[in-house]
Amino acid sequence: MSDFATELQTALSAVRQASQLCRAVQTTITSEVLDKRDQSPVTIADFGSQAVVCRSLNNVFPNDPIIAEEDSAALRSPENAAFLSSVCDHVRHLGIQADASQVCAWIDHGGATEYSNRFWTLDPIDGTKGFLRKGQYAVSLALIVDSRIEVGVLGCPNLPVTDAEGSPVGTLFYAVRGHGAFVLPLDMEATPQAIRVSSTTDSALARFCESVESGHSSHHESASVAKRLGLTATPVRMDSQAKYATVARGFADAYLRLPTKTGYFEKIWDHAGGVAVVEEAGGRVSDINGKPLDFSRGRELNQNRGVIVTNGHLHDTIVAAVQAVMASESAANQ
Ligand code: AMP
Ligand code: MG
Repeated sequence: MSDFATELQTALSAVRQASQLCRAVQTTITSEVLDKRDQSPVTIADFGSQAVVCRSLNNVFPNDPIIAEEDSAALRSPENAAFLSSVCDHVRHLGIQADASQVCAWIDHGGATEYSNRFWTLDPIDGTKGFLRKGQYAVSLALIVDSRIEVGVLGCPNLPVTDAEGSPVGTLFYAVRGHGAFVLPLDMEATPQAIRVSSTTDSALARFCESVESGHSSHHESASVAKRLGLTATPVRMDSQAKYATVARGFADAYLRLPTKTGYFEKIWDHAGGVAVVEEAGGRVSDINGKPLDFSRGRELNQNRGVIVTNGHLHDTIVAAVQAVMASESAANQ
């Protein structure tokens, strides 16, 4: 592979390292931490993951801006010294030599906010609630050039490698535009396996996935869409961009993200990595009006509303059903 080969190799090893850091932090989540509603593991893993990914990108592509979710302002304040020290310990545990100021500088390397003709976007931990629940979460990284996603990588530390019973967990998904989408186990050297979306064409048989959080996607409206399509299977609820991976490998046929409040714009880092993988696996992604996602607006998808991801075959049917449900809901609210 010649196109973006260095970018892909750099992104894969960075996401692999970040996923390992997240896993190490996740082992520190005990029932006591959860009882206290203590967010420290999320905080430490979020900053640690961003530091290691931005460090790798900065080493190889020092001129590429990175639009990432976090910045180090809070971490630098004296009352958070223990957090910073723990982030540094986890980074060093990966064999990376770093002091506190270096770690903060790497995090802030992800502080770009404006669109440019070549940039990366990073969600250091997507699905923080899933991370705390020891469920699904993802490290998502994508390279955008002239507003097109060229490379996307998703690290999914808790997603099974295959659908076989007892499969080990920990997967890396990746795609380069025009070269297909692939899956790799996170923990061992292996030949990448090409993935494809499902071939389901009957919408009544479609398997949906959606957010666990009803505040992130309307469960009520997706149930109406399902009913309209004559679909009986219950949706699979899962945190993070693991939902994109699930559609891309054909384990679900669609992922609906239906807006819950006006004025919220989806963040680019919550989608770019996943969109790359689904589209290269043969699927389609649009907003709820069928418009392509516009990654040329900075941090937010402010020209779009909601997101619909499908295996492609079902796209137009599902967009039409979503439109019909939204129209009848808005008529009922008049
Ligand atoms: P998920 O794990 O699919 O529920 O998505 C997690 C992501 O939802 C987080 O990374 C947030 O950026 C994003 N999020 C936060 N509030 C909202 C909202 N009101 N609507 C949609 N997404 C949201
Ligand atoms: Mg996120």
